[in-house]
Amino acid sequence: MGQTFKVFLIALPILCLVACLNKQNVEKKPKVEIEYALQHALKQENVIPVVIIGSGPSGLSAALYMARAGMKAFVFAGPIPCGQLTQTTYIENWPGRTRVLGSELMDDIKKQAQSFGATIINDAVSKIDFSQWPFALETEEGRRFKAMSVIVATGATPRGLNIPGEREFWGKGVTTCAVCDAPFFKGKEVVIAGGGDSACEMIFELAPHVKKVTMLVRKEAMRAAVAMQKRVFSYPNASVEYNKEITAVYGEKGEVVAIDVYDNKEKKTQRRSIDGVFLAIGHDPNNKLLKGGAIELDENGYLVMNGRTQECSLRGVFAAGEIQDSSYRQAIVAAGEGVKAALDATSFLYSLGFTAEIGEQLDKKFFENFSDEKTEMIEISEKKELNDLVLNAKGVVILDFYGTNCPTCVRMIPSLEAVAHKLSGQVKIYKVLFVNNSPIHKILHWNHDIKIKKVPSLLIFKDGKFMDMTQDFMTKVELLEYVKKFL
Ligand code: NDP
Repeated sequence: MGQTFKVFLIALPILCLVACLNKQNVEKKPKVEIEYALQHALKQENVIPVVIIGSGPSGLSAALYMARAGMKAFVFAGPIPCGQLTQTTYIENWPGRTRVLGSELMDDIKKQAQSFGATIINDAVSKIDFSQWPFALETEEGRRFKAMSVIVATGATPRGLNIPGEREFWGKGVTTCAVCDAPFFKGKEVVIAGGGDSACEMIFELAPHVKKVTMLVRKEAMRAAVAMQKRVFSYPNASVEYNKEITAVYGEKGEVVAIDVYDNKEKKTQRRSIDGVFLAIGHDPNNKLLKGGAIELDENGYLVMNGRTQECSLRGVFAAGEIQDSSYRQAIVAAGEGVKAALDATSFLYSLGFTAEIGEQLDKKFFENFSDEKTEMIEISEKKELNDLVLNAKGVVILDFYGTNCPTCVRMIPSLEAVAHKLSGQVKIYKVLFVNNSPIHKILHWNHDIKIKKVPSLLIFKDGKFMDMTQDFMTKVELLEYVKKFL
């Protein structure tokens, strides 16, 4: 064999490997060529140094650090103001706080960030143009502005099982929020799908209310922390079944009545009577805004970080929390990443030549209205109020049935107050605390056949007539569109 041929044979696999790696690189690492010219940014209107998308532990921790660094930071709270922790009960693993309610912890972080000057806006970013710098952003409520840097802290959303009956009976017995809906299942039998920490938390929330709660785990073991698993077995009315998967949900008269449970060891399916199905089967990253190829996502849709930083594949874009973390997923980790993202964003801005004076110049050319206009809802609880203000009233009236421990109810308040303001004169919105057998509940149930099974429940009346009931969370824009249909 000639010398040249030998060299060729050795080099061939190496050349193939290099070509292959290059190809992967091209597919995985999107390249957007943009120019980061500070002078160009200064000529434009409505430019802010940093926008933070999402207001969970990562977003608010980033806001705290940005604000303390003297950078104008706008946080867009998104569909879940203050994030997923507002939907859990007690947190016992936040260093320095032995036991604290998730919503209380988030409220503390929010107030801390605000005290240093962070602005939190109850709106959601709906579009980002990453092909120009400063990046151009648009919100659901139509605000338009530009940002020199973006911190993405959009988190993740609870998964569904994608099985027959799940959608149909959503809010009618199928739910992902035990904190909100546990009181509706008093004395009933419910199941939980999942074997992680969230599923355990659901047991803690449900067991004091229900007759029986069963956790259905698809494998031979739970994934939850040992301490959480131990607590599960301390409830006499809670049990765990392994190798079980829910494959269908059945209902009658708008309520869940049964499920099919597949035993993947015995290979048998059994139908069971059940009143409620709680889902705790993990989360998917909220990456809708980031699809489009400008920024690298991994094969599961999580944002890819640059080394040990919180920088994305595009300069000026940073991320923190569950949108880029599929393994640790702890609130305290998310908060730490928020801090790192803020420090990285600050370094990026300084590297462009950003100074306090430049911040002031940008401020003078910022005209977009970021105020949250609202009309607070009046609470009603008496029969006379229901008759005078709703059943004998002209025009459109909305009753917002809420619960005291219901995070979705809290999330709906900004939407309801904004719509009440926007449609004042055309629509009246009242809030009603859901209490079984309260005068209002009794009249609606017995005289008008309106059965409330979940909070929040929005009841729409027109000229005293019941028109519709909805239970899904709605943003301001979605709620506005929905209510306008009845005008
Ligand atoms: P996890 O991803 O940890 O657990 C999901 C569970 O659902 C697993 O048991 C998984 O099974 C199961 N599952 C997934 N898909 C399906 C399906 N299609 N059908 C049936 N079962 C399914 O999610 P969690 O929401 O529980 O937790 C997320 C993160 O948040 C974790 O890091 C957790 O530690 C943290 N957390 C911490 C809390 C605390 O400390 N207080 C409270 C709540 C969450 P399998 O194991 O077979 O994949």
